[in-house]
Amino acid sequence: MTVKISQRIKGFKVVDEALERSAASTTADKASKVNVVEMDESLQRPETLIGMTYKIKSPLFEHALYVTVNDIVLNAGTPHEQRRPFEIFINSKNMDHFQWIVALTRIMSAVFRKGGDCTFLVEELRAVFDPRGGYLKKGGVYMPSIVAEIGAVLERHLIAIGMLEGQALDETQLQYLAEKRAAYEASQGAVTLEPGDGFPAGAQLCGKCNTQAVVQMDGCATCLNCGHSKCG
Ligand SMILES: [Zn+2]
Repeated sequence: MTVKISQRIKGFKVVDEALERSAASTTADKASKVNVVEMDESLQRPETLIGMTYKIKSPLFEHALYVTVNDIVLNAGTPHEQRRPFEIFINSKNMDHFQWIVALTRIMSAVFRKGGDCTFLVEELRAVFDPRGGYLKKGGVYMPSIVAEIGAVLERHLIAIGMLEGQALDETQLQYLAEKRAAYEASQGAVTLEPGDGFPAGAQLCGKCNTQAVVQMDGCATCLNCGHSKCG
């Protein structure tokens, strides 16, 4: 197509079609999001929040800890509905650790209210280890510290409200582990344990899933919880 330019050319600009289109669609996006409430500090705390309380029992603490996470539901009843943690409290009869627990929960609550991604807290907390040593939970899961256990509770909560994906094993993996376990127990002549009763006595700690479930099978260290094996 020929275009005749009758006037003097004073300047020119190359039109990027892709850019124009994306600019147009962003404007459209903004228009449709205009009423969507996002999590940020300006959000006022509603009178009522829904929440869950988790109990933590640790041999490092004389009394149980009760961890309460309260959530806010944003854009309820719209396609943008989401449930997000808003605040966290930890209660215990034990006052020894009061000051750092209050500090930790205030900072966590502040992170929740800032908005954006708060799932990084799980990894950060779970990586904290107590130099005096961690402890084994029922079922053989190793907790490197009480802070790590608070991280594990937060992880459970975020999975429950759909902000994190659970790492549930699929059918085939479960079957594979059940077979491995049966084979191990048969080879030991041991009494078969019910699933959930923990792992065979003398099992070693798995470096991958932090569970005391690694046994020697055919000369190879195999985890009966997650299937991790040194021999691939
Ligand atoms: Zn494992």
